[in-house]
Order: sequence, then structure tokens, then C-alpha cells
Amino acid sequence: LVRLRQRLAGSQGGLGRGLLALLSRDRLDEDTWESIEDTLLTADVGVAPTQELVEKLRTRLRVEGAPEDARGVLREELLNLVGPDMDRALRVSGADGRPGVVLVVGVNGAGKTTTVGKISRILVADDRKVVLGAADTFRAAAVEQLATWGERVGVDVVRGPEGTDPASVAFEAVKEGVDTGADTVIVDTAGRLQNKAGLMDELGKVKRVIEKQAPVTEVLLVLDATTGQNGLIQARVFSEVVDVTGIVLTKLDGSAKGGIVVQVQRELGVPVKLVGLGEGADDLAPFDAGAFVDALLG
Ligand code: GDP
Repeated sequence: LVRLRQRLAGSQGGLGRGLLALLSRDRLDEDTWESIEDTLLTADVGVAPTQELVEKLRTRLRVEGAPEDARGVLREELLNLVGPDMDRALRVSGADGRPGVVLVVGVNGAGKTTTVGKISRILVADDRKVVLGAADTFRAAAVEQLATWGERVGVDVVRGPEGTDPASVAFEAVKEGVDTGADTVIVDTAGRLQNKAGLMDELGKVKRVIEKQAPVTEVLLVLDATTGQNGLIQARVFSEVVDVTGIVLTKLDGSAKGGIVVQVQRELGVPVKLVGLGEGADDLAPFDAGAFVDALLG
């Protein structure tokens, strides 16, 4: 929590502090409520959630009154918005001696490869045997990057020559996972958003070849928190072509747009499970709604 707070400090930490400053005014007049709305919209909370939150705050603060309550009321309502009861557990275990397969999708540059590296590090530290599949075969650099992570973390990376069918790399990676008794196989995929039909074909095929051998236990959509509405549009496309089970929100360290958590969960109906807080190997954390709101409030 301390680290989360440090990372968010000066970025979206400003959201909570800004709101608190506004709510602590002696008179909550219309101008103040408008400023509160602007603050939420600027942080990417989204129009509908912003209106709901402001409506609740207005009602509660009118009834409950005293300015010293403002922090507690704001904390409660922000927490409700973030979804305190969503199931955010990461499903990485297979069944019947077969590994669980985590499929990682998202547009290029969102932070997929980095996230795969970071997740594998967490699993290895937890004594799990992991195999990585470099199915982003269109970019040699992406394959190299994953190979580097593999060396760093000490896990096997299954790869093919540039331009290989991504599904064949995914197949081989899962095969190796099954053959070597791995606990989890993580498959990094290509993020070319050429067109929806192409993406659907590609990811559909990748998923099918995996499922012949082991269960896909998690489909993680990696989303760059700094991309705002554009990121949301891309997220929608991915969720239409594959059954996303969790969201990884990256680059929250450099973003004042923490409100995107609220929007993307509403948009996709899927919880944010992990957040990226930097480029380093340890800069990935499980998403904890309470800790997140506390960090926002500073
Ligand atoms: P991919 O194309 O989706 O596989 O994206 P990459 O994993 O190559 O990441 C793209 C860039 O974003 C790289 O420079 C990463 O170091 C950086 N990156 C990834 N996650 C984070 C994060 O949580 N915070 C920050 N600041 N940078 C990140």
C-alpha cells in the first residue's frame, strides 16, 4: 500500500486530494459541484459514473452535513464505484495434471510482454513452474523482449521463426507445458488491430489450439491507463472477439487517469485484476479496491 501510494503520488493521488479540498469548502455551492464533476471527468471516471457519484455525494452530504464527514463519505462512495466485492483472483492453475493457460491480449505498446514477464516472476517466486509462449510472431523485437524476460526470471520461452503462425507457437508452448508438468503457461499474443475479423480469426484459432491440450483459465486484456477513451474503444473490440476474464491496467504510475478503472470495468463487465506501476520486474500489483481508493485520497 505504501508503494502504491508512492507510485500514485503526484499523479492520480491528485484526484482524491482535489476532491477533498473541494468538499471541505464551507459552502458546497453549484460552482463547487461543477468543479467536483470536472475533477472526476478529467481523471477519466466517465460521464455516467461521475453523475452517479456526484448525486450520491450531494444527497449524503446534505443529509449528513458536517464537513469533517466529507472524507469518510467520499471514501465510501469512491469504493462503491470501484467495486469492492468483485472477484479479482488470478486463475493460473489447471486441472487433472494439466497446466492452466493464461492468454494475454491487447494492442501493441499496451505493456503485454512486460506484464507477461512480471506475472511469470510472481509465479516463479511462488514456486510454480511456468512456460512462456511468444505468440506475437509478427514482431521480432517482441519475441526477443520476451526471451530476455525468460532469461531474467528463469523460465522457458517457446518461440518460432518470425512470421510463424501464432497458433502454432501457442500450441507448442502449451505442449511443452503439458510435457514438462508445468503449472502455468502464459501466452503473449500479437496486438495488431488490423480489423476485427482478422483479430477474431487469429485469437480464436490460438484459443482453440490451446484448449485441445489444456484449459484457458484466464484471458487478460492489457490496457494502457494513459490512453483514455481510445483505450476503451480498443478494449471493447478485444472483448468482442475473445472472452476477457480480467483486465491489467498498465502505466498507472505515469497517469493522472486512475478513474479509467471505473470506466473499463463498467464497459466490459470484467474486474481489473492487476495494475502496472512501472517498467521494473516488481512493478505489478494485484488490484485492491480499498488500497486504490486510499492511495487516491492520499
Ligand atoms: P506490448 O507491445 O503490449 O507487448 O508492450 P510492452 O510490454 O513492450 O511495453 C511497451 C512499453 O511500455 C515498454 O517500454 C514498457 O517498459 C512500458 N511499460 C509496460 N508496463 C508499464 C507500466 O506499468 N508502467 C510504465 N511506466 N511503463 C510500462
